Amino acid sequence: MSIPLEPVPALDLPLARALHDRAADHRTEADLLERLQADPGARALVLLGDRVAAAADGSALALVAPATLAATVPLGTPDGAGAAGLWAYLGEHAGTSYLALVLPAPHGGAAGEAPDGGPGGARATEPAPEALGLPAGTTWLGLRRLEGLDELELGLVTEAVALANWHAVHGFCPRCGAATEPVLSGWVRRCPVEDRELYPRTDPAVIMAVVDDEDRLLLGHAAHWPEGRFSTLAGFVEPGESLEQAVRREVAEEARLVVAPDLGDVVYRGSQSWPFPASLMLGFRARVAGTGARPQADEVELTDVRWFTRDGLLAAVEAGEVLLPGHLSIARSLIEEWYGGRLPD
Ligand SMILES: [Zn+2]
Repeated sequence: MSIPLEPVPALDLPLARALHDRAADHRTEADLLERLQADPGARALVLLGDRVAAAADGSALALVAPATLAATVPLGTPDGAGAAGLWAYLGEHAGTSYLALVLPAPHGGAAGEAPDGGPGGARATEPAPEALGLPAGTTWLGLRRLEGLDELELGLVTEAVALANWHAVHGFCPRCGAATEPVLSGWVRRCPVEDRELYPRTDPAVIMAVVDDEDRLLLGHAAHWPEGRFSTLAGFVEPGESLEQAVRREVAEEARLVVAPDLGDVVYRGSQSWPFPASLMLGFRARVAGTGARPQADEVELTDVRWFTRDGLLAAVEAGEVLLPGHLSIARSLIEEWYGGRLPD
């Protein structure tokens, strides 16, 4: 029996539009990083922890020839294990090769930006971008603030931030505790004691636009968010669990609602990386049976959860009573897909 494949367009998600070729086959070239560091046509983006060197308004990355950085940052060994920074190969596009240079987060500046994507507090010990040879006006910005990047740059920076966040917490072998070292152009860490390779990890998380039979949308407010912030429900997939099971469990836990029983009541809509620090967001529509179901916040993760009609959500946003998630998030795309168009900020 053949299965008809109906064309269901998936969500066009901002962090899933990468233009470049990761060209993974190049990663095994022993001299790849060394060669590209000397290539005047190559370009490097620079990270300080999980923040990226970019124009202050978030409209462009500060992409420079790797040799420009060599004057101020030791280039490290060909396998990327530099004392001052870690190099990784990101891929190529239109004849240009791209690298990332990851500098350690400043002491006391824990990885991570301010909770709502803001610039975070001033960090006295962080290097000035100009001192590294980056263009005047360059600043360190978290990925959430880079809404103005083009698709090539967004693809490169999403890959780089995800990879940097993995390196940042895998400096030691989880089995024997030995210090690990980066190999394969920044794509593997190796335990020298066991001769064991560690590969980058991502954590799957489900995020769902939950609707009822009247096509109202369920949005919740998390305890640690700014007042008025509402978004779709979401949560990590647990060990041994399917994606659909995770959707049903999270809706039950966070809103005390039961997702309708048919397989078709949980529909996949698309995915994108969300490296804060290591998530892969898997987006769904889910339907709660009936219209009388009253959501109830769990008072642990969520302190408020409500149904919204389209008119009601628009009015609440326009009145400033509801703040929607940022434009790079899959939550924003799920909400606007349900709404049927762009919503104001
Ligand atoms: Zn080990």
